[in-house]
Amino acid sequence: MRRWNGWGEEARDYPLPGGARRFVEEAIGPATPPRDAGLEDVLAAVPLSRLPAHPLIETGALPRLMHARGQSLPDWLALRTGRIGVFPDGVAFPASSAEVRDLIRYAAATGTRLIPYGGGTSVAGHINPSPGDAPVLTVSLARLNRLERFDEASGLATFGAGVSGPDLEAQLRARGMTLGHFPQSWELSTLGGWIATRSSGQQSLYYGRIERLFAGGVIETPAGTLDVPSFPASAAGPDLREIVLGSEGRLGVITSATVRATPLPARETFRAVFFPDFESGMAAVRAIVQARLPLCMLRLSTPVETATTLALAGHARLIGALENLLALRGLKNGKCMLILGYTGSKALGRTAIKEALSLTKAHGGVHVGGTFGKQWHKGRFRTPYLRNTLWEAGVAIDTLETAVAWERVPAMIEAIESALNGAIAETGERIHVFTHLSHVYPYGSSIYVSYLFRLADDPDETLRRWQLLKARASQAVVAQGGTITHQHGVGVDHAPYLEAEKGALGLGAIRAVCEYFDPAGIMNPGKLVE
Ligand SMILES: Cc1cc2nc3c(=O)[nH]c(=O)nc-3n(C[C@H](O)[C@H](O)[C@H](O)COP(=O)(O)OP(=O)(O)OC[C@H]3O[C@@H](n4cnc5c(N)ncnc54)[C@H](O)[C@@H]3O)c2cc1C
Repeated sequence: MRRWNGWGEEARDYPLPGGARRFVEEAIGPATPPRDAGLEDVLAAVPLSRLPAHPLIETGALPRLMHARGQSLPDWLALRTGRIGVFPDGVAFPASSAEVRDLIRYAAATGTRLIPYGGGTSVAGHINPSPGDAPVLTVSLARLNRLERFDEASGLATFGAGVSGPDLEAQLRARGMTLGHFPQSWELSTLGGWIATRSSGQQSLYYGRIERLFAGGVIETPAGTLDVPSFPASAAGPDLREIVLGSEGRLGVITSATVRATPLPARETFRAVFFPDFESGMAAVRAIVQARLPLCMLRLSTPVETATTLALAGHARLIGALENLLALRGLKNGKCMLILGYTGSKALGRTAIKEALSLTKAHGGVHVGGTFGKQWHKGRFRTPYLRNTLWEAGVAIDTLETAVAWERVPAMIEAIESALNGAIAETGERIHVFTHLSHVYPYGSSIYVSYLFRLADDPDETLRRWQLLKARASQAVVAQGGTITHQHGVGVDHAPYLEAEKGALGLGAIRAVCEYFDPAGIMNPGKLVE
C-alpha cells in the first residue's frame, strides 16, 4: 500500500546506517523526532463534499486525503501534521476519454475546478486544491493506463496517460523495447505527469528528455478535443506538442500519449570516477559531452555531496577501502565523484567508455571500476525512501534545481549555496547543502541542490524556515540568470519567478493559450500562471 503521508510503498524502507546518523547530526545538530498526526484523526477532519452527485465521482474521506497533496516539503508538513486545510471535494477515476469529456462538461456546468492527477509526485504544489468558494474535483488518470497501440516498425507506443513508470516499462519490455525515461520518482509518476511537467529522466543524455520522447497525443480540453498527430518531423508551423508539454493541467487532460521507444540495450554499465577537485571534474564532463560521446549519464558531485554520498552509503568496509585507494592516488579532501553511464550496443560501448575514461584521466580522474556505479544504479529508486527515515528522525530534506550555460555554472552553485547558508543563519539553525550536475548538455548543465535542516517543534516555524530558504535560493537563481526549474516544473512554488524568465509578453502569451482552451478558467487554476 502507498504511504498516505510520505514517500512510496509502506513495505519499503531505507534505514539510516549508524555512521550516517552521526554524519547528519554533526552537520546540523541533534534533531528531535516530530509528533505526526494519526490517519484516523486526519480522516475525521475531512470536510463535507460540496460537489453535486455524479456516478464517476467518489467523495469518501480516504480518496480525498490520498489526492490532497503532492510531495513538496510544504505538502509533507501538511500531511504529517494533519493541517491540510483544503481537500478536493471528490476524486474521479475515468476509464476513457469519453468519461473525461463528461467530467469536463460536469465541471463547466457546476462551476467546479478540475485538477488532473497523475502520480501525485509533484514537488512544486501542482496538484494541491487552492482555497476558494468553488468546489474542486481531482481527476485521477490511474485507470487510463493501458498500451493502446504499438507500431513495431516505428517504435511508437500509444499509452493511456495515467500509466506509471514501472507499468509502462513492463509493457514495452515484453516487446523488447524501452522508453528509457527514469526520473527518480519513476515508481509512482506517470506518462501524463511527465509530459505536463516537462520531466527529465536520469538517462536523458542518451534517451532525451520527455520533450524528445513525446510524439503526440490526445488532450481533452473545455474547448474541445486536441488531437496532436505523431510525425517523425514536421515543418507545418509551430509544433502543438510544445503547448502541451509543461501545460501543468491548465489546458485540459492528456488522456493518451504516443511515445518513441528504443530497442532494449545490449549493454548498460555505470562507472565511478573520482577527481581531485570539482574544477577538474567539470572540465572532464564538459569535454566528454562536447565530444558528443554516446553516453547515457554524467552526474558529477561537489566535494560536499561526494562526502555525503559516501557517508550515507553504509557498507563501511567497502567505503574505507575506496577512501584508502583514492588517498594513495592523492585524492583526499575535496575529491569529487562522477557517475558515468553507458547504454547501447556492445561494440559502440567499448569505444565510448574507453574514450570517456581517457578524457577523465587527462583531467586527473581515477576510475574505480563498476562496483560503485552498480550500487548507485541498484539503489537509484530507493533513495527517495530516505526522506521518510530522515523526517522520522526530525530532519527535513528538500531539493531545488536550475540550468545555465557552462560559463555560469560555478557562480550559480556558489550563489545558491550561499543564499541557503545565509538564510538559515538568520534562523539560528544550521543547514547541510550538497550539489551535483545532474543533466549535462554540450552548451550547459543543470544544477541540482539538496539541503537538510532540522524540523522545529512548531510546524509553522518549520514552514517559515523553508519559505525563507526557498525564496532566497529562487532569488539567487533568477539573479544569476538561470531557469527557475530545469525539470520539476512551475506549479505554485515557482510561479512568482516565471515572469523574470518569460518576460511580460511571453507570460501574456502563455496566459492567452490557457484562456483559449479553457475560457471559463476551470482547469487547475492558480498553477503555472497566476
Ligand atoms: C522523490 C522525487 C524524485 C523526483 N525526481 C524527478 C526527476 O528525476 N526528474 C523529474 O523531472 N522530476 C522529478 N520529480 C518530480 C515529479 O516526479 C515530476 O514532476 C513528474 O513528472 C510528475 O509526474 P506525476 O505523474 O506524479 O504528476 P502529478 O504530480 O500528478 O501532476 C503534476 C502536474 O501535471 C499535471 N498532470 C498530470 N497528469 C496529467 C494529465 N494526464 N493531463 C494533464 N495534466 C496532467 C497535473 O495537473 C499537475 O499540474 C521527483 C519528485 C519526487 C517526489
